[in-house]
Amino acid sequence: MKRRIPKRYVVLISCTGKAPITFSFHPLAVIVPMAIAIIAPITWVGMKFYTYSQRNLMLTEEAAEVWQQLDALDAEVKTLRERAGLPRTESTPAEANPESSPQGGVEAPVEAEVLLEAANSRLPALSADLKQKVEPALEDTLLREAARPTGIPLKVTTEISSPFGLRRNPFGRRSFEFHQGLDFTGAYGSPVHVTAPGTVEKAEWSGGYGYHVIVDHGYGYRTLYAHLSKMEVTQGEWVNNDQIVGYLGSTGRSSGPHLHYSVYRNGTAVDPQGYID
Ligand SMILES: [Zn+2]
Repeated sequence: MKRRIPKRYVVLISCTGKAPITFSFHPLAVIVPMAIAIIAPITWVGMKFYTYSQRNLMLTEEAAEVWQQLDALDAEVKTLRERAGLPRTESTPAEANPESSPQGGVEAPVEAEVLLEAANSRLPALSADLKQKVEPALEDTLLREAARPTGIPLKVTTEISSPFGLRRNPFGRRSFEFHQGLDFTGAYGSPVHVTAPGTVEKAEWSGGYGYHVIVDHGYGYRTLYAHLSKMEVTQGEWVNNDQIVGYLGSTGRSSGPHLHYSVYRNGTAVDPQGYID
């Protein structure tokens, strides 16, 4: 038999000697507000908890991502420091590392807020390190490397006709001399290219070197191009790497067309072979 909800309830309050007081109401008028009164707070708390969990989850993921990016940045900075000739270690101060900070031990999980806070303190340290130390040192390294003569001054097929060092004097029968550079063979008039950027220190004639050009590259590097048939630059001029400074010739103390090329390191002639590769 189907049970039916009665249509109305009647509550009767009786007092001795007085007429009874009666209330008549529909059952849904009580059940619905009661249900709302119970379910609503539970739902509200549940939703709040869900939102909080979701937010925490997102925050943790975000913090982990930020930390990962910082790790990558830190590795980059270390590589740059090494390239700039600085020690690798200074870029990560111990206090910025959450593993060694008092908020979380190695075993305890790190809260997203703590991780983000640590990341926030780590980023300025990394930026300051980059700006104040790594960048200037790197710039100096790059300038020094750019100032280093590289390769040979001729683009044409050539070979070394006289190496660096002691050799028999080509103009004397029994005497020896110290050859302060390399002699390259090549056709008369072949363009001679500078092997690093710099300022033309000399572009002049002398009895020994004939028409010759000396370029100061800075950082203690100088190069000399001698016995030129013609000079293409003048004293004080800035030359870019590879620029033509003159043309192969046989001026000065020369037995035939060739290029004499010298590399000086802090005022001393060194073997240019060490600068060719
Ligand atoms: Zn020579």
